[in-house]
Amino acid sequence: MSSELTPVNSCAQKVLNGQRLDRDEALILYRCAPTHLLGQLADTVRARKHPDGIVTYIIDRNVNYTNVCVAKCNFCAFYRDVGSREGYVLGFEEIFKKIDETIAVGGVQLLLQGGHNPDLPIEWYEDLFRAVKGRYPDFRLHALSPPEIIHISRLSKLTVSRVVERLIAAGLDSIPGGGAEILVDRVRRLLHCYGKATADEWIDVMRVAHRAGLRTTATMMYGSVEADEERLEHLWRLRELQEETGGFTAFITWSYQPDHTELAGVEATGLDYLRTLALARLVLDNFENVQASWVTQGGKVGQLSLAFGANDMGSVMIEENVVRAAGASYCMDEVEIVRNIEEAGFAPKRRNMHYQILGDPIFRERQVPRMRSLATARAEGDDSVPVELHKYPARSRIGKQVRT
Ligand code: SF4
Repeated sequence: MSSELTPVNSCAQKVLNGQRLDRDEALILYRCAPTHLLGQLADTVRARKHPDGIVTYIIDRNVNYTNVCVAKCNFCAFYRDVGSREGYVLGFEEIFKKIDETIAVGGVQLLLQGGHNPDLPIEWYEDLFRAVKGRYPDFRLHALSPPEIIHISRLSKLTVSRVVERLIAAGLDSIPGGGAEILVDRVRRLLHCYGKATADEWIDVMRVAHRAGLRTTATMMYGSVEADEERLEHLWRLRELQEETGGFTAFITWSYQPDHTELAGVEATGLDYLRTLALARLVLDNFENVQASWVTQGGKVGQLSLAFGANDMGSVMIEENVVRAAGASYCMDEVEIVRNIEEAGFAPKRRNMHYQILGDPIFRERQVPRMRSLATARAEGDDSVPVELHKYPARSRIGKQVRT
């Protein structure tokens, strides 16, 4: 770095000295710093927090229990309307089968998320969680993003804290940070996701969850309609809550995927991704872990993320439905993730959601099947209705007809 004290250099110097950036300084770096400098700074912070040269990943399965959703976010290609022939709810048996397959490849948890289905009462979630824990006591449930918790709270007329309490009692282990998009209400209105959760509501669910003892992740979907300042505002909201509760384990950012969405548009470039990732590492100085989003960026940019602040390669992807519906379909199994980590000069280790190290790559300990393509929630054309659904009262008119 040149010794000349330009605004960029003085902000960079602050990072190197271990000082906090303020908003103006973060914006200066984001807008004006050369990409290699941003990467170098983010990598310095990453190395300070993780001097052991370890890059972690988790083996889990991303299961979308339903695609029926009344929220209708305009950036989403995954959801189907109530009554759609393509709408589905997974049965408990289908979910058990997915868990069996996940355990077979060394998996330790389900990342369980879905649409805002008006015909699934809180009892359905409780029964599912209890059934999973009854069969697989050590298997973890990383489930239900803040907007889903709000949806359940509205449907059941219970407070968010009561919903969280009941779900914990049923077996919920942690909450994924989905549905954050950009935590600025102007943006949320434009994305038609203000109704599902305002910025304050999203933050409040996380606060409640952290206070109830749950750890959660935090996410950001950038590259739709927001301004640079709004990306920063999002990061600031997360940094403030982390300061208050310390409950976030990790941050994950990905770019808006426009294919087949109502909003349409173009996808952010790889460079934008790397700059945004680096910015997040610099601003979120109270987050230990930053994930690479290779699921949206592909393995090659995912690997480069490790030089731009990321210390984690996220999850081995066994199944993916949401991002694929919007046009991105990258697949890496454990062998491939480990290859990318090692060729970037790091030591790969398996972890759990709490970032505790579970061990070396499982495929080096025992034989596991290779996964060269992604599973889907359901086989195409399967429109079966799970038997247990009939136990629960439907709320929508169409749901009532189906269940009588
Ligand atoms: S992003 Fe989630 S809440 Fe929004 S429409 Fe899609 S499934 Fe529904």
